[in-house]
Amino acid sequence: MKQIYDVIIIGSGPAGLSAGLYAGRAKMKALMIEKGQHGGQIMSTNSIENYPGSIAEESGESLTARMVEQCKTFGLEIVQDTVLKVQLEGAVKTVECENEVYETKTIIIATGTNTKNIGCVGEEEFVGRGISYCATCDAAFFSGLPVYVIGGGDSAIEEAIYLTKFAREVTVIHRREGFRANKASLDKARENPNIKWLLNRKVVEIKGDGLVESIVVEDVRDGSREEIHASQEDGTMGIFAFIGLIPQTELFKGLLDMDEQGYIISDDKMQTSVEGVFVAGDCRQKLLRQVVTAVSDGAIATVAAEKYIEETNN
Ligand SMILES: Cc1cc2nc3c(=O)[nH]c(=O)nc-3n(C[C@H](O)[C@H](O)[C@H](O)COP(=O)(O)OP(=O)(O)OC[C@H]3O[C@@H](n4cnc5c(N)ncnc54)[C@H](O)[C@@H]3O)c2cc1C
Repeated sequence: MKQIYDVIIIGSGPAGLSAGLYAGRAKMKALMIEKGQHGGQIMSTNSIENYPGSIAEESGESLTARMVEQCKTFGLEIVQDTVLKVQLEGAVKTVECENEVYETKTIIIATGTNTKNIGCVGEEEFVGRGISYCATCDAAFFSGLPVYVIGGGDSAIEEAIYLTKFAREVTVIHRREGFRANKASLDKARENPNIKWLLNRKVVEIKGDGLVESIVVEDVRDGSREEIHASQEDGTMGIFAFIGLIPQTELFKGLLDMDEQGYIISDDKMQTSVEGVFVAGDCRQKLLRQVVTAVSDGAIATVAAEKYIEETNN
């Protein structure tokens, strides 16, 4: 007979790993399904300074390694697969993956978000040839070169600071005057002499022959355009885009209540609009998308799933 899990956790970012830890410790029959590498988005950050107990040297990779180890210590089952389809109604729910179909009493959705594209001419052509969405992954390729960071949120500002360790000069291009980034990071960036600012501008085109050689920026106030060229000596430049997030919730459209951006709506117990289906981390509608809130959601979702099973005698 096919095994019915108590809980299936979709995604092994901080939210999923925290849910997995709590499920393991509670001795639930739990399965975590991850389509890529463990750790989700924190794998692309080199320094996590704002997670309690983390010190400046804590990278996303080292924090993830410890979280995964802790889950395994408590016996969590983990598979690498992509969830393609779900059936959420009823006492037994189905999770259909590329390689297997699983049955479960409860589901915790912890699928996180993806970064948004710049949406300018030439972007597709130069991804991996000068355009990057991950400073930790690609900063070293731009050692001694000028780098342009697009965005005005926490990721953009924190990664701009990080990039100054490699690039000769970092210029932040932001389409507004004000920033969404936290004040502490912004102050740190403003004090950094290697960070320059191009405000009220957006990148409309990226050009080059094989590698990025120039960018065209538009002043959003009057529509005037300027082309910024790499010097003859450099020959190229780096573009790092951190302009926003897209919730990875496509799978659940029409099945769960979501806001207009596609974030899943839940109550304070992480309960979604369908009984026995919980959500945790960045893919849920919330104020703050950080590791500290993702792990909190994950813990609450597992405890709520456990309670739901008890109460429904499921
Ligand atoms: C560059 C950068 C720097 C950051 N720096 C910090 C920082 O310093 N401090 C901080 O607190 N936060 C930081 N954050 C934010 C933090 O990374 C997120 O808040 C956190 O990772 C959210 O965790 P999550 O588990 O909700 O989602 P994610 O980390 O997005 O993980 C979701 C996981 O689900 C998997 N998944 C998605 N769909 C499926 C599917 N269909 N099947 C199977 N698996 C699936 C994904 O592969 C992924 O591994 C940063 C983010 C970025 C991008």
